[in-house]
Amino acid sequence: MTATLRSVAQLQNAGLVPASRAAALEPVAARYAVAITPAMAALIDPNDPDDPIARQFVPDPAELVASPHERSDPIGDDAFSPVEGIVHRYPDRVLLKLVHTCPVYCRFCFRREMVGPNGRPGLTARQRTAAYDYIRARPQIWEVILTGGDPLVLPASRLRKAVEALAAIDHVKIVRIHTRVPAVAPERITADMIDAIKARGKATYVVLHANHPRELTPAARAACAQIIDAGIPMLSQSVLLRGVNDDADVLAKLMRAFVACRIKPYYLHHADLAPGTGHLRTSIEAGQELMRRLRGRVSGLCQPAYMLDIPGGAGKVPIGPQYISSGDGETGEGGIEVRAIDGTAHGYP
Ligand code: SF4
Repeated sequence: MTATLRSVAQLQNAGLVPASRAAALEPVAARYAVAITPAMAALIDPNDPDDPIARQFVPDPAELVASPHERSDPIGDDAFSPVEGIVHRYPDRVLLKLVHTCPVYCRFCFRREMVGPNGRPGLTARQRTAAYDYIRARPQIWEVILTGGDPLVLPASRLRKAVEALAAIDHVKIVRIHTRVPAVAPERITADMIDAIKARGKATYVVLHANHPRELTPAARAACAQIIDAGIPMLSQSVLLRGVNDDADVLAKLMRAFVACRIKPYYLHHADLAPGTGHLRTSIEAGQELMRRLRGRVSGLCQPAYMLDIPGGAGKVPIGPQYISSGDGETGEGGIEVRAIDGTAHGYP
């Protein structure tokens, strides 16, 4: 397979959707964009109805069932968008959304109402200039996060211009790129692309979004190694997803795979309240229990922070398990009580 699958008929022809399900998936695909790259399609076991890669990318009729708590802009991007393409939620950093297309469309995407071929258009030249002007006029902006959509769907020449424009702003010291491309379309990571995203005189960071250890194929690992060998540090972000990675063994494997690739685990996101994604979301309690088990199993290097983006736009907070409580503790030594990884209580004076 050499082309990205973009319709139910193509998924059916590729053997990823049985004929009996196709009709039920048409309205889902009409509502939310579909794309599965050859690299991801090749990972799916069509004989496994619970395949964790398929769960992320193959549409499901459950997506048309939205709960009253879900919202079209779950983390409140629009409320913090002073000019088209910019989200300015925290004083020292902004998101810059150059495009609203992606190489794959994730069924749990928190921006699913904005992304896709029928979603919002990418920024025009005039809008890009307005976005750079906005950043240039605010010396408190230290970091610019290119996200979207996936910025690495852009041609290297366009990325080069964007990164050069940002690097030329004196107070911008960090250009951070959020992407799934090194894993889902590793062939896009070329020497030219890497050179284009390297901010001269500033630091570029690449944050890879991957959710299951199988996504880190040999080709994905080679693409990440190329980026890191070029002097660009990499971090990871993952979304906690029911039936994909809500399992301590799978999470441990995923985090170890990142670290083995020299990618520091950064965030494990609690899934946002995007419409029609309830079947993929876990409870926060389940997430905390998984984090507790991860802490007991793998080294500190392999620990991401478990994060909640507060619905509506109040920002992200860590929601990992607590190991400290006030009071005398079961040891009776006064001060605070600390729980060890095995659950035993200890006093700290
Ligand atoms: S790559 Fe990111 S922005 Fe695109 S569909 Fe997936 S989660 Fe959404």
